[in-house]
Amino acid sequence: MLLLTGGFIIMVCQRLYYDLQLAADTDELTQRLNRRAMMRLLEREHSYYLRKNQSFAIILLDVDHFKKINDSYGHDEGDRVLVHLAHILHTQLRLCDFVSRWGGEEFLVVLSDTALRDAINTAERLRREIEQTTQAMNMPLTVSMGVAAITLHGNSVEALITAADHALYAAKNAGRNQVKVAPSLS
Ligand code: GH3
Ligand code: MG
Ligand code: MG
Repeated sequence: MLLLTGGFIIMVCQRLYYDLQLAADTDELTQRLNRRAMMRLLEREHSYYLRKNQSFAIILLDVDHFKKINDSYGHDEGDRVLVHLAHILHTQLRLCDFVSRWGGEEFLVVLSDTALRDAINTAERLRREIEQTTQAMNMPLTVSMGVAAITLHGNSVEALITAADHALYAAKNAGRNQVKVAPSLS
């Protein structure tokens, strides 16, 4: 009886720990990974890259003129748009890829075992999908994206993120609604 009760308590504690960990890693609005959890995941991908030479790429995505969406339709509708975008990213990507809410209206995607050319194609596919589905919802919006690959754009996770950030900035400057790649380091 004592053993059974002890076993049950351990099981409940493990479940509680798992739930707490999941909640700590999840963005409440979009139910995707939060920035902290994504940083941990990026470090893990980077360590695989160093040990096994398994490359990966990232996409940094920012909604174009999102402030206007909030101003025109209200903050709650803006929130619903963010949930919709998170859903599109999640459903359009492979099981081995990861989506996180990086900040306000920015998402960071990790594409495992992916070379630059495939990452660009994926980003372009996502961009089109977002443009088309939001148009169909009568809430037309576009996104800009910066793409970077570990083999070309960074000796560290921080360098890779900075590269994607610069590419995103270039996409915004070039008129938005487009995908840009970070210039190679070499
Ligand atoms: P740009 O094309 O240059 O990115 O323009 P922008 O309007 O998207 O950029 P800006 O940084 O000026 O505005 C971002 C807006 O995102 C402002 C902020 O109110 C809104 N935002 C950030 N987090 C949330 C959120 O959780 N929910 C909603 N509804 N809006 C948010
Ligand atoms: Mg932004
Ligand atoms: Mg924006």
